[in-house]
Formats: sequence, structure tokens, C-alpha cells
Amino acid sequence: MDYEVDYSEISGRLVECPPQCGMCCLCQPEVLPEERPFFKRNHPSALVRSRGPEPYTALALKKGRGSCTFLNGRRCSVYKDRPAYCRQFPFHLYASDRLQVELDLSCRGAWTGSGVSAMDEARSVVALASSRADAAMAESKAVYTEFYANCREAGVMVDPSGLRMSVSENLAMFSDISYLGRIMDAASIEPVMSLRAIQPDREPDMASLQEAGMESAMESMGSEDPLSVPVYCDPQWNWNMFMAVDGTVEWMVMDDEGELHHKAFADAADVRLRVPDQEGAAVLRDYIRTLNSRDSFMGSVFSLMDENGYEDDMSNSYYGCLSVSIMDLLWRMSLLDHFMGTGCGAEGMREAIIFYDMDRLDAPTIGAFV
Ligand code: SF4
Ligand code: SF4
Repeated sequence: MDYEVDYSEISGRLVECPPQCGMCCLCQPEVLPEERPFFKRNHPSALVRSRGPEPYTALALKKGRGSCTFLNGRRCSVYKDRPAYCRQFPFHLYASDRLQVELDLSCRGAWTGSGVSAMDEARSVVALASSRADAAMAESKAVYTEFYANCREAGVMVDPSGLRMSVSENLAMFSDISYLGRIMDAASIEPVMSLRAIQPDREPDMASLQEAGMESAMESMGSEDPLSVPVYCDPQWNWNMFMAVDGTVEWMVMDDEGELHHKAFADAADVRLRVPDQEGAAVLRDYIRTLNSRDSFMGSVFSLMDENGYEDDMSNSYYGCLSVSIMDLLWRMSLLDHFMGTGCGAEGMREAIIFYDMDRLDAPTIGAFV
């Protein structure tokens, strides 16, 4: 291994897997070539090709859309032979110019404050994934080198660690809605924006902020395929799903057999954008700190810059994407409050993060999850 592994996100944390959850068993894990013989021999009908633009060999889902066929009473019936991707959860390994371990905050077992050492678990996950990680790192290092060269050539390069430092120093701005609109405007107007020049908006335009959050959140709820819409596992361990069609959000709950049960509809425009209270803002700042340290988040910004032909300065892209992500999160907090009355305090914000964090895995990025 000739690359750095960054464990800073999980240092000092505990994780557990409460027996009532099973939420990650909705994700259709990939079955690696070396794992296929076991399933071919013992459960041939459980191996399928996944749907989507890049199909892979995976485990079948109940009714083709529910939980994994092996989930029984929220417990895995092939636990000791489960695929590597199941063993890995709630950790994700992201290959960029280093390997970074992330903790999926949609996993409720990451929030209980009890369980086993996340660091010990993650070290064994990294050891088990070493051959896949080596191959991914060789590719991603080359991609990153090329990306930075393209940025320099286009004159849009900024030191990424400097960007992260400026966000750390200005966390209060990013958790205050009176700044977010100004940051998004500056990111799209100024050739090279500076956080120092941003002043709070005394009368923030709540309608356009609501629009920004709603657009981003509705995009991920916009699939007609229940397998692809966001899932939110609530404190009672219900698998809530939210599907958006023509500006309307349908709230459904999926049962253990893959049946969807309608709960309520909401016109997205009627979901009033809520602002976190002091305690909610403190939870939000912690989450922004996490996003700001994630290489996968940086990688998704880089992917957007690449897609836009290197027209935007890296600082504008980074601050702008971070602000849009925060608006998405605040709109989801408002949606959960609208449907379930979760509020805008620490609890409401924590539930919104549980709802949001897994969806970031779908964002295109120039590195790779291993
Ligand atoms: S999401 Fe977390 S708590 Fe839930 S089953 Fe998976 S690992 Fe366990
Ligand atoms: S194999 Fe087991 S752990 Fe993996 S998704 Fe299926 S039920 Fe869950």
C-alpha cells in the first residue's frame, strides 16, 4: 500500500447495529466475483444483474424493489456469508489522491453513542478491501493528477486545503440562512469569490432560498423507481420513502415484504422552509464540518467543474455546492417537520441528516467508492 488512509472522520466514534433496523439491506449490495460461487451453489436464484446505467451482479430484492431477499425479521439469514459490501456498511472507502474512510450518517447505529470502536471496525474493513482499494487508488491518483493539470491550465485552480480551511473558519456563515443566498449569488456572479466580502442579507429572500433547497431535494426524489428514491429510517425503524411527481411529494412506508403503503401527499411549494434554532444550528455546523472534510464531497465538486468545462473558479464551485447541499438539507428538515413534526431543533436537524447523508453517494464524482 503506497497511499495514505485517512480515518479522521471516524476517530473516537462508536457504532452499533440495532436489531430492528435493516435499512442498509435496501441498497442491493454488489456480489464480488470471489463471492459468487457460494451464492451460485446455495442460492442460485438470489443472484441478479442490478438495474441502472452500470449494472453489476447483486443480490435479489423482495418483489424486485424491497429489502434484500435474505433479510428475515430485519436480520440477515446469510450473515456469516454476506457480501463484502454488507460487511463494510456503515463505512465507505473513497479513493481520490488518498483513501478516506467515511461513516454513513444515515445509519442510526452511528448516532447512539454506544457500540464498538468505529476505528477498529474501519481498520478491518480497509484490510478486507485492500486489493480493490489498491486498484482503485492507482486509477484515481491518475484521474486527480489530470484534473489538477486541467484546472491549472484553465486558471481555476485553488488549493483545496485552503478552501476547507476557509469554510472551517466561517462555519457560522454556512449555518446561517442570511448568508447562504449571498454565497450562492456570489458563486454564480463573481469571477473569483471571497467569503470575506460576503455580508449577511438582513432580509433574506426566503422564496428563492426555498426554491434552491426544494429543487435540489426534489431531484433526488424525482425517480419513479422506488429502488432509487431516498429512504429515511425513523426512530421507530420505519422505512420511509419520498417520491416526487409533478411538484408533489408522496410519503410512503415500505414494509419488510417490499410493499409500499401510502401515508400522505404534500405540494412541494407548501413545504415552508424552516430555519434551525440554536441547537439545530449547532448540529448543522457539526455536519458541515464533516462534509467539508470529505474527499467524496470535494470529488463531486470537481466532477461538476469537469462537466462545466473548467469555466468556474474552484472556490466558487466549492462554496456554491456546499451552500446548495445545506439548502437541500434544510428543505428536507422542513419536509420531515411538515409530515412528521420533527421540528427545527437538534432532533429535527439530526433526523434530516439521517435522511440526507446516504443520498450523497449518488452524486457523480471524479474519484471512486471502493
Ligand atoms: S443502517 Fe446501520 S444500524 Fe441499520 S442495519 Fe445497517 S449497519 Fe445496522
Ligand atoms: S446479504 Fe444480509 S446483510 Fe447483505 S443486504 Fe442481504 S440481508 Fe442485508
